[in-house]
Amino acid sequence: MRNYVLDAHAHTLVCGHGYSTITELANAAAEKKLELICLTEHGPELPGAPEPVFFGNYRIIPGLINNVKILKGIESNILDDQGNTDIPMNYIQALEIISASLHTPTFKPKSKNENTSAVLGAIANPHVDFICHLGNPQYDLDYEAILQDAKKTNTLIEINNASFFVRRGSKPNCEWIANRCKELELPIIIGSDTHFATDIGDFTYVDKVLNAVDFPDELIINLETKRLTDYLEAKGRVLFKDPRQYAEDLFSQKDETVVK
Ligand SMILES: [Zn+2]
Ligand SMILES: [Zn+2]
Repeated sequence: MRNYVLDAHAHTLVCGHGYSTITELANAAAEKKLELICLTEHGPELPGAPEPVFFGNYRIIPGLINNVKILKGIESNILDDQGNTDIPMNYIQALEIISASLHTPTFKPKSKNENTSAVLGAIANPHVDFICHLGNPQYDLDYEAILQDAKKTNTLIEINNASFFVRRGSKPNCEWIANRCKELELPIIIGSDTHFATDIGDFTYVDKVLNAVDFPDELIINLETKRLTDYLEAKGRVLFKDPRQYAEDLFSQKDETVVK
């Protein structure tokens, strides 16, 4: 097993079908010696998902919990053939990492052309950093067109560990995608897609697929946190903002106007 130091995809009980808190995820990540986890809560259009304001108040969550860095983001839903998403644009500044996914409650599987057009639209959105669980056999997709566009737009492709037991039938698709990413020198990002804390950082099945296609370590974002933070900062994101710094600055100033 490679030494993975970050998990790009995690859910909490707030999404309506997850069962752990942020603190429980961070503590489980610390036990597994992960350096960073991404909170990628489901976008507001998925039934049971939080309202946009949930994402708007993300700054209040510390950037470090139990020595694990926390990146606060969203797994947005692709909503239509144009690839429109439910990223809450009012709160875009609060989001440090953004993925986009096809989910059956928010996008019923259509023809190969329509499904592919939806994904290509999301890839063309400069806010979207990575596309999740493309191996899902419920959606007929033109993988070649998707990976070519991902390469052109510097969009990352996720290989999702939960796909091998939740989205059954994904394995041959994930192998094909991983192999083609290798050929195209397209970086991949790995997510556990945990909905319960014990799954955080568990990439058991992804690792087997990467071995099967002899995938190069240089193209795996999860092997160094800097690979992810450099990627996001190059897109203009300001990471690990903490509103408490405002108070720190305020109280460290020598304010001579204070009435004694
Ligand atoms: Zn998903
Ligand atoms: Zn997910």
